[in-house]
Amino acid sequence: MQYRSSEIQSGLLFESPSEIYARIFQELKPRTAVPPIQVCFRRFANANSFIRLAQGGIEVRITDLLEGAPAPIGEALAYILLGKLLRREIAGKYAHRYRLYLNRRDMRGKMQLIRQIRGRKFMSGPIGKYHNLDDLFETLNREYFSGLMGRPLLGWSRRLSRTMLGHFDPSHNAIIISRIFDDERIPKVALEYVMFHEMLHLCHPVEHAGSRRCVHTKQFKEAEQKYPHLREAKEILKRNL
Ligand SMILES: [Zn+2]
Repeated sequence: MQYRSSEIQSGLLFESPSEIYARIFQELKPRTAVPPIQVCFRRFANANSFIRLAQGGIEVRITDLLEGAPAPIGEALAYILLGKLLRREIAGKYAHRYRLYLNRRDMRGKMQLIRQIRGRKFMSGPIGKYHNLDDLFETLNREYFSGLMGRPLLGWSRRLSRTMLGHFDPSHNAIIISRIFDDERIPKVALEYVMFHEMLHLCHPVEHAGSRRCVHTKQFKEAEQKYPHLREAKEILKRNL
C-alpha cells in the first residue's frame, strides 16, 4: 500500500504504527519487499527507542513516552530508526522535528520524572501478576474519597520489600507498593489497607513541629480509623511479615 504523505497529513487515512514503518521502509528501499514489521511501546527508564532485525522481520520498540505523540513525531522517529537500520541518509528535518518535540518543556518534565521513578527508584508499573494498582486506587477512591482524589503514579516495588510496605513520594507524586502484596496467598485486604494508608498521605501533608517531622498526624490517624477493615488488615500484616 502506498500513501502520499499529503493524504496522511490531511487525516484522510489513519495509519497504524506498523503501517508507518512499512511505508517508510518502502520509500527508503523501494526495490525490496517490505518484511513483517512489529512495533510496540515499552516502559523504558529513558526516551530511547530501538529497532532491530529479528526472525526475518523488523522489530521496533518505542518508549511509551511517545505513545500519545502526534503522528508526525512518530513518523519522524520511524525515519530515524529505519534510516539507521537500513544505513540510508534521511532528511535532516526528521531528526530536527523529533528533537524539538523531546525538548518541549512538558516532555522534558515527563522524561525527568520517568528517569527518576523507573531508573533509580525501585518501581515498575501498576499491573502486577494478580493485582492492578490503578484499579485498586480507583475502587478505594470511589469508596472512601468520593472519587475526588487525583491518581498519582502507581507502581510495584522491584524487590519484595518487607520493610517498606508502601511509600508515598510527594516529589514524584507516586505511590509505590511492595511487591510482596502481589501474591494470591496474601488476602487482598492487606494490600487494600496499605494503599488506603498511602492515599491518606496524599491528603494529609507532613507537619513540622520544630525539627520533628510528623508524618502520621492526629488527623491522619483519625482518618485511618475510618477504614472498616483496619484490624483484620493489621493482623494479616502481622502474621505474614
Ligand atoms: Zn505512613
